[in-house]
Amino acid sequence: MSNSIYAAPVYKLEELNNIFIELTAKNCNQRCPSCYIDFPMSKNVKDFIAVDKIKEALNDTMYENLYCIYLTGAEPMTHPDFNTILRLCLKRCNVCICTNASFLNEKKIRFLKKVEDEGSTQIFFKLSLTHYNEIESDKMRYRGNYRQTIYALKILSRYNFTTVLSIQNCYNLSEKEIMESFNKIFKEQEIYNTDVQITVSHPSFDDKNLSMPSKKTDCMYGRTLSQNGIYSCPFLANDYRGRSGSSFKDFSKTVNAETDFCATCSKNNNYMFTIG
Ligand code: SF4
Repeated sequence: MSNSIYAAPVYKLEELNNIFIELTAKNCNQRCPSCYIDFPMSKNVKDFIAVDKIKEALNDTMYENLYCIYLTGAEPMTHPDFNTILRLCLKRCNVCICTNASFLNEKKIRFLKKVEDEGSTQIFFKLSLTHYNEIESDKMRYRGNYRQTIYALKILSRYNFTTVLSIQNCYNLSEKEIMESFNKIFKEQEIYNTDVQITVSHPSFDDKNLSMPSKKTDCMYGRTLSQNGIYSCPFLANDYRGRSGSSFKDFSKTVNAETDFCATCSKNNNYMFTIG
């Protein structure tokens, strides 16, 4: 055990370039064991954000230099007004759909391409796995998740969508091993336009570098909108420690990065959620 005192870094919002909209906090059709969300016993949760709340946020941020709106959850594609929200956000800037891939069949992907073609902004996708091996990855997710994800990547690539595959590195694999293995799979499956983003899993609190500030955190360039207000990032949505305010009319521009999620961010030294 280290004797040093952990001093939490303070992160300032440099510019509001990203908004992470939590379409539902607890509704997911899969509920993976590796998910950071604490799911309730009941599966019948209908905590969907109101479309009016999103309209209000877009209005309040009218003069901000937004680059991307992330549709997050739990599973954002379970929202009954998902298509309306997607169109609304695309009128403002690019949109990234962060999904478990289970709704991404060819029919849906073709439809999403049509929606994208209605305007000049782009739809990105963020999918995730925990390992390049199907059995190991599914252990942390659900049975069939690996196949669904690779299938979705293949079809998205065919429709020329740009996708990020996020690897939550629960197995502490080397970056080289992850990159080489996925490059091989992408080649075999004819998957193009997909970048791999690797994030660390939770660090040990004995780790010596926890108080080193990160150069890139999601809270330096974005804020999360949930049905309860504004939060520093998707990991701290609805958590009082990440609370930034009730609306984008007046919200806090600084974050005391003192949670275990913040320690993970600092250790990762790169965005955990933002793509690119
Ligand atoms: S967990 Fe959220 S609030 Fe904490 S440092 Fe990371 S992005 Fe910022």
